Amino acid sequence: MTSRPIYALLGAPVHHSLSPALQNAAFHARGIDAVYVALWTWGELVEPLMRSLALAGGGGNVTVPHKNRAAQALDQPAAAVRATGACNVFWWEDGLGLCGDNTDVAAFRTAAEAVLGSGLDGSRVLLLGAGGAARAVVHACSGSEVEKVDIVNRTPERAEALVRDLGEPSRVEVVDDDDVKASAGTYDLVVNATSLGLAVSDPLPIDPRTVRARALLDLVYGRSETPLVLAARQAGLTAADGRRMLVEQAAASFRRWFDRDPPLEVMFEAAGFAS
Ligand code: NAP
Repeated sequence: MTSRPIYALLGAPVHHSLSPALQNAAFHARGIDAVYVALWTWGELVEPLMRSLALAGGGGNVTVPHKNRAAQALDQPAAAVRATGACNVFWWEDGLGLCGDNTDVAAFRTAAEAVLGSGLDGSRVLLLGAGGAARAVVHACSGSEVEKVDIVNRTPERAEALVRDLGEPSRVEVVDDDDVKASAGTYDLVVNATSLGLAVSDPLPIDPRTVRARALLDLVYGRSETPLVLAARQAGLTAADGRRMLVEQAAASFRRWFDRDPPLEVMFEAAGFAS
């Protein structure tokens, strides 16, 4: 008897995740005999689970708060992992071992450009958060000709470490709430890369009425639009939640695992989102 390869999302929490719905729909649409599950994972189990799943012919994704730990577990980190120190997709290749990439970088760029209605070049970005997702955002922005990225984080030292680890990119600065309120200029894009919004009881990471901005991208997502997206629209901003980015990073993960085109329309539909 042959067993079906298992692909898993490793993180904590994972109960809100749409990844199993997206990937199982994609596997079905492409006739791939595999299953995708979400596993609530403690830190010390991240590396053993990655290796077991990948060696058995499957693979998976990594989410909050384990992307940095996953990057350290890899035998073959892709360039985006080396640049960001964060890994969100892994698989096995004979002769290479445990391989991983960071598909959040390109997925963020696509989602940001969709909400902006234009390229990231020349834009002024306010980034909330300094975890694994924020690293992907800063890397994507420094690969584009953004005018500036201001980072606000609850723990400023973590934001400073992020800037240091990413090679102190020009035009990227750690600021505080008062700097944002006092900012004379307007931001083109506010990005929420904190985990605030994952729990229903969470406060908003920012009051959109207090910041001069054109658009907002909440990387957090749920079954319906997030409270931050709704508040941003009420304040007159164009806003989108994290579902487009989720689908884009999932589609790129599918390509890494199977070297085939993913069924994008099927994945958007499974996310409850029109492409
Ligand atoms: P992470 O590495 O654990 O970072 C969490 C961030 O949230 C840190 O900046 C942390 O600040 C901040 N934070 C947590 N609790 C807070 C609180 N009570 N008040 C203020 N700030 C708080 O997580 P991550 O991997 O970067 O993911 C962040 C979010 O992005 C998650 O919701 C994740 O689901 C989402 N995401 C979505 C996509 C997508 O495809 N849509 C992709 C990637 C990530 P400190 O540094 O002070 O702890």
